[in-house]
Amino acid sequence: MRGRDRRILLVLLDGAADRPSPALDGRTPWEAADTPNLDRLAAAGINGTMHVAQPGVPLSSDLAHTRLFGYDPTELPGRGVLEARGFGRDPPPGSVVCSASFASLEGDGRTVADRHLADDAADFERRSALPGVREADVPAVDGCTASFEYTWKNRGLVEVTADEVVSPAVTDVDPFAEGLPVIASEPTADAADAEAAERTATALRTFTRSTRDALAGVDGPADVVLSKWAATPRGVEAFADRHGLDAASLTPKPVLTGLARTLGMSHRAAPDGYDDRAAAALDALGSHEFVHVHYPEPDEVAHAAGPRAKRDEIAAIDASLATVTDRALDDPDLVTVVTADHTTPSTEDVVHSGEPVPVTIVADGVRVDGVERAGERPAARGDLRGVRGRDLLRTARAVADRIMLAGLRRTPAARDYPTTAVRPLWEGEDRE
Ligand SMILES: [Zn+2]
Repeated sequence: MRGRDRRILLVLLDGAADRPSPALDGRTPWEAADTPNLDRLAAAGINGTMHVAQPGVPLSSDLAHTRLFGYDPTELPGRGVLEARGFGRDPPPGSVVCSASFASLEGDGRTVADRHLADDAADFERRSALPGVREADVPAVDGCTASFEYTWKNRGLVEVTADEVVSPAVTDVDPFAEGLPVIASEPTADAADAEAAERTATALRTFTRSTRDALAGVDGPADVVLSKWAATPRGVEAFADRHGLDAASLTPKPVLTGLARTLGMSHRAAPDGYDDRAAAALDALGSHEFVHVHYPEPDEVAHAAGPRAKRDEIAAIDASLATVTDRALDDPDLVTVVTADHTTPSTEDVVHSGEPVPVTIVADGVRVDGVERAGERPAARGDLRGVRGRDLLRTARAVADRIMLAGLRRTPAARDYPTTAVRPLWEGEDRE
C-alpha cells in the first residue's frame, strides 16, 4: 500500500537533449550513451517528449526551469536578479540588476572580439576595482549610479539605482555574439514606463563607455563590460503555496540557486561527484516532498567538447544513478521524473535549440508504455503526450495523488492540491 504523501524527485539533465550526429552514426549523444539505469527507468515508466515552452523556442536554463517549476516567466524577476540572489546578494527594491561580463573588442574599439575571456579571477577582481568599472556616475539622471560587482569566471553584476524610477525594459548591451557591435541600450518597444526605461538605458550606455575608458590603460585582454538581462526585484508566490510541496533544489548553478531562493525552496549543495550528488538527492528526500537534482554537465560538455564527450558524460551520470533507480523502482511512495530543460546541439554553433526534450515518469500505478530505452526517439514513441513545461510538475503531482478534484474550494485562494490548512468552523469551541 502506498501512502498519501508521495514524494517527487526531478532528475534534471541540463541540455542533455541533442540532434543526431554523424560522429555517432546518426544517433544523439543520449541515444548513443550506455545508460543501463536510465533505460531501467524508461522501461518502468511512461515516456514522451515535451516542449518546455512553445514548439521551436530555444530556452535558457532559468526560463526552462521557471516553467518546469510551474511558473510563467512573467511572474518572476528576470535573470539579473536571479543571478544576484544566486550569489547571495539581495538587490534592493526599485533597483535594476543586469548580468555582465568582461569582453575584448576588436581594433576599432566598438566590435565584440571575445566574450569568453579566461584570465585568473584575481585579474578580473583587480579590473573590477578600477574607478569607472566599480562605479560610474550618470549625470543625465538624478541621483543615478551604475556599479559593478565581480562574481565568478569573467562575470559580474551591474546594479543601477537612481532617485527617480528605473525600469528593466531595456535592450541588452551584450550582443551575445562575437563580430557584432556593442549595443547602445534603449527602451524596449513594450516598456510600460518609457521614461523610466530611458533612464536605465542612459545609465547603461554611460556605464559601458565608462568601463571602456577605465580599461583602456590596463594590461590584459578585457576592454569593456557588457551587460544583459536587466531585471528588477518583485514578489513571487512561493513554491510551497503554489504546489503544496516542501521543496529542495540541489544545483551548482548560481542562476538556478537564485531561482530556488526566489521561490522559497531550500537550496542544498550539489556535490561535484556524481555518486555524492545522487546520495545527496536521496538524502534530501528524507526531509523534503519535492527534490530537484540538477546536472549542468551535459550542457557544458556539449558546448565545450562535442557529441562524443557529451555521450560519455551522460553515461558517467547514468553510472551514478543505480541507487536512485533502485529507489525509484522499489519505493511506492516516490514519483521519479527524468528530463532535460532544453536541447543543446553539440554539433552546431548555436547556443540552444527548440526541439522537444525526453521525459520519463516512474511511479507506482503509472501507465507503463513499453518504451525500453532512454533517449529522444525512444521516448517519443511513448504514451506521454501533450505535456508542456508548465504542466510537468502538475502531471507529477497528479501521479503522486497530490491534486484535488477540479472545482473544489477549500480555501479562498484557488489551490489545486489537497491542503489541510483550512479554516475550521468550530475552532476553539467546545462541543456542547
Ligand atoms: Zn547551454
